[in-house]
Amino acid sequence: MTEQRTTIRYWNREVETLPRGELEALQLKRLKEQAAWALKTPFYQEQFKKAGITGPEDFKTLGDLRRLPFTEKTDLRDYYPYGFLAVPREEVVRLHASSGTTGKPTVIFLTADDLAASADITARSIVCTGAGREDVFQNMMTYGLFTGGLGLHYGAEKLGMMVIPISSGNTLKQFKMMKDFETTVVHATPSYLLHIHTRMEDCEVRPGDLKLKKAYIGAEPHSEDIRRKIEELYGIDAYNSYGLSEMNGPGLAFECIYKTGMHVWEDAYIAEIINPDTLEVLPDGEEGELVLTILSRRAMPLFRYRTRDLTRIIPGLCPCGRTHRRIARIKGRSDDMLIINGVNVFPSQIEEVIMRLPEVGNNYLIVVEKDGALDKLTVKTEVGPGMATDDTRVLYRLAQKIKDLLKASITLSPHVEFHEPGSLPVSQGKAERVQDRRKEPV
Ligand code: ADP
Ligand code: ZN
Repeated sequence: MTEQRTTIRYWNREVETLPRGELEALQLKRLKEQAAWALKTPFYQEQFKKAGITGPEDFKTLGDLRRLPFTEKTDLRDYYPYGFLAVPREEVVRLHASSGTTGKPTVIFLTADDLAASADITARSIVCTGAGREDVFQNMMTYGLFTGGLGLHYGAEKLGMMVIPISSGNTLKQFKMMKDFETTVVHATPSYLLHIHTRMEDCEVRPGDLKLKKAYIGAEPHSEDIRRKIEELYGIDAYNSYGLSEMNGPGLAFECIYKTGMHVWEDAYIAEIINPDTLEVLPDGEEGELVLTILSRRAMPLFRYRTRDLTRIIPGLCPCGRTHRRIARIKGRSDDMLIINGVNVFPSQIEEVIMRLPEVGNNYLIVVEKDGALDKLTVKTEVGPGMATDDTRVLYRLAQKIKDLLKASITLSPHVEFHEPGSLPVSQGKAERVQDRRKEPV
């Protein structure tokens, strides 16, 4: 789908189009302010000392940030519960926690001002996709400790949209609300949107009954083909939205109507890309791990936080006129990488191959298990509508095609299993795309 690209909307035109020099000056000013706050926390007192930084005045240029060591997820756990808190506890009005995809959860704190700043940033993200107060926003992300739900909620309200905070789950109700209140924008994980589409018929909803125009998809890695699939199935525009709870959740980087990468709001965050092995900072255009510094949070500063997410900064300007640099679609997390019979594979590489095939349905699962001394890779996919799972000749040919394509792209030829549409397990939060059973006791 292509959006009518006649109108580019801004939430705060001045900040969004600030010349680079001024934007970087603003970053430096905020970095110093953050440093002053950070020195109130036990963790950063130590980190600053290690780096030989005594106070904010030691940040003379943005490059001085590189003197600081990285902050890791394990640091957040080690200093749990309050080792990162930079304000008196009484000033904290909100606590969030990461969904804990990898290990035990980590918490973040926000003051009332931090929440207001975050709402402003997320309002900007929403407007950047061309949406406005005339829209009806159905938020299908899970509400709760996870920042997915509440993260965009306040921004949407701030810009004046009618918000339906339905959270995830209850497909029938999702469609009923969409139909009755003429929802125009939804926010969900891509896997959830694909899943509920397989249930549309059971809910007696036809695409023509809906007024949907846009979807914000994020919280989990997905390929360009998944985006395209969502756009085609619903007849809408889907925009990639990136965030993590440690950085206040979704909306820290968002696609504009041109969909050529996600603008990182650089007045609120400093983004660096590092080589995850050597830890050196890489130039724009090179792929590596995203490292983020938040510039707009008093309660809990975080400097050089290692996200483990792999991406690159897209060089050049976006036609929308925003000067904030874009990051490319997240390839996966550096800790997602599977080693199967000695071959390094990211789940996203498998997704790219299978989701391109029209015969393949909306959900898939990758299973790795031990088979004697070797590893066995199985790709389970749902078939597309109209494909019968008992037509063995057709399925045999499709399995062969998937094996050949994967052999060509990742040098591994998997076992392929087909399932009925809507039958593979679906999570209401982040999709669980990989089951690595090699470590499980047999
Ligand atoms: P956890 O780190 O426990 O999964 P979060 O809920 O904070 O907790 O999830 C943030 C992570 O989700 C990111 O670090 C990233 O790996 C993934 N993520 C979020 N948005 C996207 C996106 N648009 N594309 C790919 N991955 C994403
Ligand atoms: Zn743009």
